Amino acid sequence: MIRTKIVATLGPASDSSEMIGRLIEAGVDVFRLNFSHGTLEQHARTYERIRQVRRERGSMAAVMGDLCGPKIRVDPVEDDGFEIAQGDRIEIVADHLVGHGGRISTNRPELVGEVQIGHRILIDDGMVQLRVNQTHDDRLVCVCEVGGTIRTRKGMNFPDSDLKMSAMTEKDREDLAWALDNELDYIAMSFVRSAQDLQELRELMPLSDVDCRVVAKIETTQAIEHLSGIIESADVVLVARGDLGVEMDLAQVPLLQKRIVKRCQEAAKPVIIATQMLQSMVEQPTATRAEVSDVANAILDAADGVMLSAETSVGAYPTESVRMMTRIADKTESYLQERNQTARIDVTKTMRRITTAVAHGASLLARELNAKLVGVWTETGNTARLLSKTRLNTMVVGLSPDEHVCRRMSMYYGVIPVQLARKQDVPSMLRELDALFLDRELVDRGDLLVVIAGTRLEEEGATNALLIHLVG
Ligand code: PGA
Ligand code: MN
Repeated sequence: MIRTKIVATLGPASDSSEMIGRLIEAGVDVFRLNFSHGTLEQHARTYERIRQVRRERGSMAAVMGDLCGPKIRVDPVEDDGFEIAQGDRIEIVADHLVGHGGRISTNRPELVGEVQIGHRILIDDGMVQLRVNQTHDDRLVCVCEVGGTIRTRKGMNFPDSDLKMSAMTEKDREDLAWALDNELDYIAMSFVRSAQDLQELRELMPLSDVDCRVVAKIETTQAIEHLSGIIESADVVLVARGDLGVEMDLAQVPLLQKRIVKRCQEAAKPVIIATQMLQSMVEQPTATRAEVSDVANAILDAADGVMLSAETSVGAYPTESVRMMTRIADKTESYLQERNQTARIDVTKTMRRITTAVAHGASLLARELNAKLVGVWTETGNTARLLSKTRLNTMVVGLSPDEHVCRRMSMYYGVIPVQLARKQDVPSMLRELDALFLDRELVDRGDLLVVIAGTRLEEEGATNALLIHLVG
């Protein structure tokens, strides 16, 4: 069993019950529904399939909805595309028109008032680069610095500009409402610029829906500037290397990735590495050496999860891609196992001093006693998350009677979620855990377990205990 969590994007290549079942079997822990593509009706159908497969298999796979965010796009252009060469002049107008060689418009005309002279404008993942050399009320005059083809609806990035748009579009609000109604486990926010953007999202999430946790996608220059605040207010962080590599110098992305992972470690937040991890498997049944190294290195850096996008959504080899991830994780984790090092969490950053200390303690005990596993009763999943981030060498079983909490824990490195009601007295609780762990072949008789039975001090009657227990 691997500890690294695998997130797989569903799409036309994987949108059937049979395929969803195979992906779970191959090792998927979290399914991503990408609201940038398809309609809500399509996502609803896919989600229903996931639920059905999950029920049949007793799977705790989580579902993450990914909001498009305020992605700026080129309005339709004549013949769906035209060439632009270095040195050519082009205008971006504050209007909507069918674009052509001399001028184009965008889905957000107001941006014309927010971009300044000298700013870069990148089109189609940076394939075409423009620089603004005059600004007017109704248009930007730009010079092309890197030529190529400008096509209808291609994405645009403004890495130098401070665009005043809301982080949530009308469509994002509709998608979010659907995600909350349908009790998705995670909602990912795209193009987050600061903690305020996440706050704007949270304000749209009524308290009764707090079961849905927030994933911050790091993919803008501004997010890099406000990294600490974002990590602090997000539940999970996602390194979205696609847009990040366009907004920032591509050569900087590996170091940014390492920096983000390290900060998430200190703050005890799960972090997922995404985009082009096994890109060549979109077309081929095996990965390149460079891709395999990339996945392994992400795991060595202590990423909690790795994500597949096109590989599973539109690629020709969805299950093979997941199996490849699983194989790489398996080999790489055995190296981490040998090193047997626990990791540091910055107690001041978790705001849960007691729980963090208990997690550290359990982790050290498990190591000293060579425990077979650590069981953790958790009400919200937080104790399991903190324990997971100590990077202990032992598997963690996250125990909760609540299936939402169990699915949430599917995102946590090394945590196996198990839905179970808790017996009130300690001996019966331990007997039941023995039976369950033996049944699942997670332990043998005579193995030593560490069980965290609670970390609450303020509540009367709550069990606050860390138990060391011999199976059988
Ligand atoms: P996307 O995000 O797939 O929604 O664009 C990931 C990325 O930008 O890397
Ligand atoms: Mn993106």
